[in-house]
Amino acid sequence: MKESRILVIEDEEDILNLLQINLESAGYQVFSADNGYDGLKMAREKSPDLILLDLMLPQMDGLEVCRRLKSDEKLKKIMIIMLTAKSEEIDRVVGFELGADDYVIKPFSIRELLLRVRAVLRRDLNEKIEKQEAWKFKGMEFDFEAMELKIDNRFIDLTATEIKLLEEFIRNEGRMLSRESLLNNVWGYEFDGYARTVDTHIRRLRAKLDVYADIIQTVRGLGYKFSPHQH
Ligand code: CA
Repeated sequence: MKESRILVIEDEEDILNLLQINLESAGYQVFSADNGYDGLKMAREKSPDLILLDLMLPQMDGLEVCRRLKSDEKLKKIMIIMLTAKSEEIDRVVGFELGADDYVIKPFSIRELLLRVRAVLRRDLNEKIEKQEAWKFKGMEFDFEAMELKIDNRFIDLTATEIKLLEEFIRNEGRMLSRESLLNNVWGYEFDGYARTVDTHIRRLRAKLDVYADIIQTVRGLGYKFSPHQH
């Protein structure tokens, strides 16, 4: 998966540094600003996927930054997580309906924050995929409406299970998927199958992907990962 870009707008230096270090080590590309005015400017210049936006900021507060982002045609698609210190501020964030996607109350644990970040980015990705009619990579094209795969403009004959498997991989690009999670999400919880079932179907799917077979990587002892960009 392409590295997600995160802009942190926060005037407290310690928190800013802490966020920057942890987000970078989690694999995100991070930009930062320490006031609302510069934050907006950075949002325009860097087009991040997500903004961590502190509420109390000098020059222009977080609510105003949020309002301006959400009323700008180009910037309103950026996901926003508000960072707020007091519980009464949350009512404002939520009540104002400014379109923040989530909020985190200070002091927060880094673990919790990273979980929220991942969840919001994932929601964003799924929404983008849903709006998209097709997923494309090099000569591959998967149509979400028709549920059809083409490779070099040739339709590939896939079974219903292979199609569901492929869709699950595309929706989780870059993430390791265990056999158990594939069994649950592709075959359904009620399916009384074995991990081996997954391996068998993946082997067949890979064979049909032909030159793109290694787009589905085996993560030894754990499961599988769909990594077109390492292809
Ligand atoms: Ca602040």
